[in-house]
Amino acid sequence: MKNLKNLLFATILTIILMPLSVQAAVVPILGHGFTRGISRVSYYIDYNSGTGFYEYLIINAEHNWESPGWTSPVNLVAASSNSGTMLDFYAKPNSYFPEDNADYYGMAEFYDNSGNPVIPDYQSYVFTRVQINDDANHYRNATEVQGTIAHEMGHTFGLAHPEVLSTNADSIMSQSWFRTVQTVQRCDTDALYKIY
Ligand SMILES: [Zn+2]
Repeated sequence: MKNLKNLLFATILTIILMPLSVQAAVVPILGHGFTRGISRVSYYIDYNSGTGFYEYLIINAEHNWESPGWTSPVNLVAASSNSGTMLDFYAKPNSYFPEDNADYYGMAEFYDNSGNPVIPDYQSYVFTRVQINDDANHYRNATEVQGTIAHEMGHTFGLAHPEVLSTNADSIMSQSWFRTVQTVQRCDTDALYKIY
């Protein structure tokens, strides 16, 4: 009887929550952003670390953020060295990531002007790094790897993860294990205007 009650409760909850799922996803922000804004984000690909393997996916993700199909506040400019750049891409082995965890497809890092790590929830940042887990991505589906790169770029712009239980599987900022899209959505660019 108790189980039936729970089932009924779950069913009622599902019915209550269903109309919410037609609403647009809301992407939260980390709190702060690039000190120099996102209208000219200089980026660098570290070919020495094997990141050249991902170059075309990085460029695809770049174009996706710049031209998702509607107006985007993001513009990126490629640089040939990492001197003064705002966004640097590196490939790293599994051992670089927390707990040697292959579940980490990528990671975004935030730094101040002196190269000290900062927590973007609390302060703005001067430059960022996207670390691509080469062990986890080398043989992975290219569309999904591009989605991961676009996702990590979203973090560098200042975007956070949508709540799992909300309606936000259709954001590039949703985590890979339940994300239903691999490209930038309108909710993702909308969230940028909360920061910049
Ligand atoms: Zn993430």
